[in-house]
Parts: sequence; structure tokens; C-alpha cells
Amino acid sequence: MAKESFNAYQMAQTQFDQVADLLNLDQATRDLLRQPLREYHFSIPVRMDDGNVKVFRGFRVQHNDARGPSKGGIRFHPQETIDTVRALSMWMTWKCSVVDIPLGGAKGGVICDPHNLSSREQEAICRGWVRQVARNVGEVTDVPAPDVMTNAQHMLWMLDEFETIHGGKHPGFITGKPIGMGGSLGRPEATGFGVVFTIREALKAHGVKIEETSASVQGFGNVSQYAIQLYQSLGGKVICVSSWDQKDQVSYAFKRPAGVDLEQLRSIADRFGGIDKVKAQSLGYEVLAGDCWIQQDVDILIPAAMENQITAVTAPRIQPRVKFIAEGANGPTTPEADAVLKQRGIFVIPDFMANAGGVTCSYFEQVQSNMNYYWDKDEVLQKLDSKMTSAFLAILDLSKTKNLYMRDAAYVIAVQRVAQACRDRGWV
Ligand code: NAD
Repeated sequence: MAKESFNAYQMAQTQFDQVADLLNLDQATRDLLRQPLREYHFSIPVRMDDGNVKVFRGFRVQHNDARGPSKGGIRFHPQETIDTVRALSMWMTWKCSVVDIPLGGAKGGVICDPHNLSSREQEAICRGWVRQVARNVGEVTDVPAPDVMTNAQHMLWMLDEFETIHGGKHPGFITGKPIGMGGSLGRPEATGFGVVFTIREALKAHGVKIEETSASVQGFGNVSQYAIQLYQSLGGKVICVSSWDQKDQVSYAFKRPAGVDLEQLRSIADRFGGIDKVKAQSLGYEVLAGDCWIQQDVDILIPAAMENQITAVTAPRIQPRVKFIAEGANGPTTPEADAVLKQRGIFVIPDFMANAGGVTCSYFEQVQSNMNYYWDKDEVLQKLDSKMTSAFLAILDLSKTKNLYMRDAAYVIAVQRVAQACRDRGWV
């Protein structure tokens, strides 16, 4: 992984520039859309358990809100950078647009490592984050959500702080809340299931039976676990998963050619989705170097961990049998690797389509919170399936009629809608 030279924001801008050329966008629209509308950078002082005060850096970036309040998760990560947050905010704009929900794009983050923070310290970071941006976010302006290493509890602390500052109840301010406290049923499953709804449609379009396919997955967190659950329940076989080992500070891949046992792996994973390698070994899994997930002889690859994983260096290791890649993670494929995938004719379901189930369900959560009326789980998942499937089929249709690579087709639809909203509002 060429981490040093990778910049997610440059990658998001490169992808955007290519689509702007395809769409022949005017200069003002390009200038508006290739960077965020607004950014907030701030410090969060926290009294730690040992009595000392530590200052954390926090961010909120609002890329575009022409189609509705901006929306996007808050990531807690030790390697968080403002450019990663910018890129993720931009991808959120395209994601909300491609599934046609009335929201814009934003993202937030704090440079911290929850592995090394007590629950009380994490609560203080959450409340401190809200205090810094309480006037710039809210149900009609910008709606946060969980992302990597943040969860329902973090969202509830943030909501509580927001309501303390503003008074009254504002459940529509944030999504990913716990069930019973304004959360939507189906939200934990939404992103992983959404990935598999698009895989199911892609296979159908290619005349491939899902029960005759196998997959290798990078990551074993929220997205990965639910993607594996639905894919296996539809008959697919996952033979390899990888995860980050916090103690060794490297990733490992866990292989079982007969198919991994999801519940068994869940029982030996920590709350961050790290699989215990010693226990996995004793259960008969072959433990390999983390990057081996990409070189498995399978039909489908599902990167569902981090950005910058399928690169010019790793793409050549993809086996000839691989015909589909469903990007569960945001930004897993670099533009150089994309050129390789394109040339090899691999069918790519791009990140902002494949993983849009999360934000779609977050939108449902916000709708339910604002109505103060909650749907049952089947209703949520059925609405999710229908949104994801129709968005995917629209991209597929455009890609066939205009002979476009799937990522380009998705971008054309998404960027066109946002550009039109900016024009309709008279911004450009
Ligand atoms: P998570 O924190 O629940 O899980 C991340 C997983 O990736 C963990 O299993 C971790 O061990 C693993 N991991 C980290 N670094 C790794 C590495 N180098 N190699 C192998 N495994 C590694 O996160 P998540 O919510 O599942 O999110 C995963 C990706 O999906 C991120 O890119 C995120 O932005 C994106 N995403 C998440 C959602 C959502 O609803 N959770 C929605 C859209 C996109």
C-alpha cells in the first residue's frame, strides 16, 4: 500500500475532472463542484482519565448542499486528514445524488484512536465536536452519521449535546442512533445489504447464478459482515476475509476454501472488526498476509475496509477468474488501478453506488425521526432494496447505451443532477 503518496482528495478531484470533461461542464460549475463549499477545522480539548488535558483536531466539511441538507458520517481515525475528509464529503454528494435522495454531501472526523480511549474520553470528544459546530449543523442544514470507528452510542452523545445547546428535541439532527432512541431498524444491515443488492443485480444482468459464485472480502466490520450475511444467504460462498490486527499493527487474511462461517468469525472478532488470529487458526482458518485477500481465485472481490487498496501495485495480482468488484469501502480503487480494471473488462460497482445503502437508510431514519413514526424492519429493507436496485439499473442502462465504464456512468448521472440543482438555484 503506497500510503505516503496517496491523497484521497486528489483522487476524488481527478475522478471529477474526468466526468466534467465527459459532461463538458462549464468552468464555473467545475470550480464549484471540485472543492467543498465550506470547511470547519477546530480543536477539541478533552480532560483525559489521567487528569491531563489533550487537544484533538476535528473537522466538518460540507461539499455541496444544492439538492438538500448535506449528509455524511464522522470518522474517528488516527490517520485522519483534512484531505481524506474533503474527498469523503465529495463522494457523499455523488452518493446521495446517484440514489436520488434529497441530500447533499458532507463528512466529519476527529484525529484520534478509539482503541486507546476510554468510553468517557470518547464521550467527551463527541460532545466537544458538537460544541464546535452546533451552529453549522442540524436537521435542515447538515446531518451527521457514524463512519469508521464511530457507532450508535457516539451518535446519541452527539444528539444529547446538540439538544442541550439548542433546547428541545431534534432527532433529525443525526442518524445512526440506537433503536428506540430515534434509530431506524435496518440501519446496521443497510450498507452491507445494499452492496449485495447491487451484486445480485449485476450477476443477474450477466446471466450468472449467485449460488455458483464465490467471493473474497477485505475488512470484517459493519459493511463486510452484513454483506457476507446476505451474500451467503443468497447462496454465495465467501472463502477469504481480512481484518486489521491492532496488536500486531498489520492486517491478516483468513482463508477457508469451504466457505467462512460468519457467526464463528463474529464470535472471535473484537468490536472494531479485528479477527483474533490465534483463535482463527485453531478453528482451521489459514492465516495469510493481509493483502492476500486480493489474489484469491474467486468471481467477486469486495473491498470493504479502507480507501487506496486496489492500486497500480495490487491490481495486477487480481486473478483472471475475477469478473466483478463491488466497492463496499469508499475510494478503495485508485484511478491508475481503475484503468487496469477497465482494460481487463472487470465489472466494477463503484463505491458511491455500491455502498449507498447506508446513506439511503440514514435518509429513511431522518424521515422517520422527523415524522416521529417508525417503520418495521421489512418495510425499511424493502424500500432500501427498491431504491438501490433502481439506481443501479439506471447506471447499468446508461453504461450500456453510451458504452461507458460503470464508474463513469454513475458519475455522469450523479454529477449531472448536482450541476443541474446548482444551475436551477442560480449559483452558476
Ligand atoms: P468498520 O470500522 O466497522 O470496519 C472496518 C474493518 O476494516 C475492520 O474489520 C478492520 O479490521 C478492517 N480493516 C482496517 N484496515 C484494514 C486493512 N488495512 N486491511 C484489512 N482490513 C482492514 O467500518 P465500516 O463501517 O465497515 O466501513 C468500511 C468502509 O466502508 C469504509 O471505507 C467506510 O467509509 C465505508 N462505508 C461505511 C458505511 C457504513 O454504513 N458503515 C457506509 C458507506 C461506506
